[in-house]
Amino acid sequence: MLETSICDRIESNVRYYSREYPAIFSRGEGSFVIDDQGRAFIDFFGGAGALNYGHNHPLLKDALIEYLRDDGIVHSLDLNTEAELRFLERFERVVLQPRHLEYKVQFTGPTGTNAVEAALKLARLVTGRSLIAAFTGGFHGVSLGALAATALRGNRAAAGVQLDQVVRLPYEGFLGGGEIDFIEKMLISDESGISPPAAFLLETVQGEGGLKILSAMFVKRIVALARRIGALVIVDDVQAGCGRTGRFFSFEDFSVTPDIVCLSKSISGLGLPMALVLMKGEHDRWKPGEHNGTFRGNNLAFITAAAALGFWESSSFGEALEANIDHLESRLDQMCERFAFAGIERKGRGMFAGVDVHDGKLARQIKQDAFRLGVLLETCGATGSVLKIMAPLNIEQKTLDKGLDILEAAFSGVLSEAACAAGA
Ligand code: PMP
Repeated sequence: MLETSICDRIESNVRYYSREYPAIFSRGEGSFVIDDQGRAFIDFFGGAGALNYGHNHPLLKDALIEYLRDDGIVHSLDLNTEAELRFLERFERVVLQPRHLEYKVQFTGPTGTNAVEAALKLARLVTGRSLIAAFTGGFHGVSLGALAATALRGNRAAAGVQLDQVVRLPYEGFLGGGEIDFIEKMLISDESGISPPAAFLLETVQGEGGLKILSAMFVKRIVALARRIGALVIVDDVQAGCGRTGRFFSFEDFSVTPDIVCLSKSISGLGLPMALVLMKGEHDRWKPGEHNGTFRGNNLAFITAAAALGFWESSSFGEALEANIDHLESRLDQMCERFAFAGIERKGRGMFAGVDVHDGKLARQIKQDAFRLGVLLETCGATGSVLKIMAPLNIEQKTLDKGLDILEAAFSGVLSEAACAAGA
């Protein structure tokens, strides 16, 4: 019998999610995670965006098992391997070519923050400038370069050094309107005191920042501004990418081509660590070996990533994804209507959706009740007031409905009680 008391004894205080969801998880199957007591939870946590195709999808799992059984190379730094070449070939054919994108691909260390560090460094190398323009509410990782661009106070507090070389700009909606006019003025004016940055670093949907979204107009104007002042545009698609918003890239419907794109989380499909940076060819200014890392070539992830790209070749995957998005949106709208007395609000885009209850304590209570009732999900936003639903993109509609029914029951209990208390 395994005991969590060992975590209290020898695991660092830094652990977080294990405190929020007190269980010992043993298995994952599609949209479900199962604990050591055999309790099944519908997984709306989704590995914080790393499990867009659910747990242990048979196609990905089988590809991985077969590769290992045949003694495929596991570790290779950036030596060429069959697994790497198979991934690159598929990525070019399934992702880049149909979108007319001529990006070069850089494999970085395997986490999102590694991709962001590489992107920032590259933008500085290309432009010869050091300043990065990042946005309120942004989250880009916790290594120091990415942390400097991260806005959330809770994450910045432990840096221990000055987090500098970043200018903070208002995300759309932060000032209640007019943000893009303000940004243009500040970056063009000779009297604002802001130097032209190396790059703008954007999330089109802020995953950790509370599912805030950018409009096509805002993104287009940022891209135009960047061109005007000689800066690059980096889209951090670590969480919003790989289909989460309904398209493979979160910026696809905006008719823009970022200079650099960061991908990680769900790129491997199975939840294995993998990250990459895409860059326009003219920005590929690295010298060989200039930015390296022992775990750039995660061949197991290449295998599952190549298999996962197969989903994007099938029209039924895209159709089911669209149906899930429509269904999720209408269910969340119904919930917001039902609990209109609490002033809750639907947030996000596509399958990157959630509900803002405008109160971190209430959101946490809802999360805990949902967990007790059999749904795993997390909260986000600067005050933790947003319930974030990260169901697998290919979740069966009846499972999605069951999870949403549970969530609605948790909302009902907590919000009715809060309303009674407020009225009393
Ligand atoms: N960028 C974004 C947009 C993210 O959401 C995250 C992780 N939540 C990161 C970067 C950092 O990724 P990782 O935790 O894998 O370092």
